[in-house]
Amino acid sequence: MTQPHRIQSVCECQALLEAELDEQRLVLRGWARRPGGVPERAPANSIGHGDRIDVAWQCPLCGRNTLRSFHLAG
Ligand SMILES: [Zn+2]
Repeated sequence: MTQPHRIQSVCECQALLEAELDEQRLVLRGWARRPGGVPERAPANSIGHGDRIDVAWQCPLCGRNTLRSFHLAG
């Protein structure tokens, strides 16, 4: 059994972006939250396979598409 990967980044509007990825690096769910605020669902997609992926969020708080690269170890 593999735990889902939880990744985080910060949008340019300072919202905290989070996503949960399955073993295939597909996004199970994504959300965004202002500091101290309530999480809101954020559409998110992962691009790439293996250890290095890009994840794109559509931030519900500012409407930006935010792309971030991640290195997933193990
Ligand atoms: Zn934002």
